[in-house]
Amino acid sequence: MKIKVKNPIVEIDGDEMARIIWRLIKDRLILPYLDIELKYYDLGIQNRDRTEDRITYEAAEAIRHYMVGVKCATITPNEERVKEFGLKKAWPSPNATIRAILDGTVFRKPIIVKNIPPLVKTWKKPIIIGRHAYGDIYKSVEAAVEGPAIAELKIRYDDGREKVLNIHRFDSEGIVMAIHNMENSIRSFARACIMYAIDQKVDLWFGAKDTISKTYHGRFRDIFKEEVELKRQELDEAGVKYRYMLIDDAVAQVLKSEGGMLWACMNYDGDVMSDMVATGFGSLGMMTSVLVSPDGRFEYEAAHGTVVRHYREYLKGNPTSTNSVASIFAWTGAIRKRGELDRTPEVVKFADLLERAVIETIESGIMTKDLVSLAEPRPQGYALTEEFIEKVRERLEEHLRGVGF
Ligand code: NAP
Ligand code: MG
Repeated sequence: MKIKVKNPIVEIDGDEMARIIWRLIKDRLILPYLDIELKYYDLGIQNRDRTEDRITYEAAEAIRHYMVGVKCATITPNEERVKEFGLKKAWPSPNATIRAILDGTVFRKPIIVKNIPPLVKTWKKPIIIGRHAYGDIYKSVEAAVEGPAIAELKIRYDDGREKVLNIHRFDSEGIVMAIHNMENSIRSFARACIMYAIDQKVDLWFGAKDTISKTYHGRFRDIFKEEVELKRQELDEAGVKYRYMLIDDAVAQVLKSEGGMLWACMNYDGDVMSDMVATGFGSLGMMTSVLVSPDGRFEYEAAHGTVVRHYREYLKGNPTSTNSVASIFAWTGAIRKRGELDRTPEVVKFADLLERAVIETIESGIMTKDLVSLAEPRPQGYALTEEFIEKVRERLEEHLRGVGF
């Protein structure tokens, strides 16, 4: 008998190899065991083109309504892709559209298995990185200064007031840049970080450089402090501590730590540090991602893309060994969250058992090619895309029988 899931999950389909493994996961690991209503949105590139990207907006609205979504990797078209698929235009990144509609923050979390040791010996638990994805150098105005000049920063208020600050008196050539951020955006970011730290029951760390940038970075620090104070009781109840550090201290502390925290990063720090942390933990195929809105909507995803190189092999009829772990964990993340919101412990239990089946399969030495060179001991061979999923299914069935489902 299947496990009944009370409320729907929004399912967002995607492109290329990610779409192939998506289908396999759904058919082999989810639908045989769950009686679930999936609100399906096909964000495959052709359908986005056909609907002039309306489908992306509809999917985001559906997540807003149903609270929980799960998304397959999608192509963000560039000029080459426009030609390849004969698209009407280079539609924007669906992730950026959905993130903007939900006003959400993306958190990346690695999946840890015993036989793939992190590069950093002390790391034992996941380090979750939250990146503020608005402003700073990513929305900057910059210029080359050609010769002797004065650079000024001018703010002209709508009521006619003006404020002019001297940036630098250039005696010779140089460069200049102006950046900005928004109170609302920083606040939403802080709220999403607090929301997810409570959800994950991990400490929340935030680092900036407020000793140097007293107004700009200082404002980030103050907003985090204010938002943390507003949620003090919930944080205490979840046993979540908040720490503010200088960014350089935060980097040093993270490296020396055993992990197990949510590290909230300003935009540039998050860009840089998420690559460091991802590399430190191993493969992209083991990195999950979740979009959290400040009002508690959750969209789960794998951090990797559509794995186009593997897809081209697949189309030629060649065997592939694509890692489906992050996509499976996207499904379990959404299913667990659905179960928590619906207060259906058996649904949460299913998510736990599927994750356990995946981890045990890898720990037994069965893994895809990307993991083989990272694993200790190194396995003899590697599993093909479908073989790996089949091995997980066998283990899942054992576990389900074990608990009488
Ligand atoms: P990618 O799909 O992440 O793949 C880059 C490389 O990383 C692959 O060629 C493969 O290396 C390895 N890899 C990634 N995921 C893997 C997995 N699950 N199993 C095994 N190996 C894996 O990035 P990309 O090739 O730069 O981008 C392809 C498309 O994805 C682009 O159109 C881009 O727009 C899109 N994209 C979407 C998202 C999203 O929807 N969230 C995110 C990023 C990129 P080897 O070739 O060495 O095996
Ligand atoms: Mg980066």
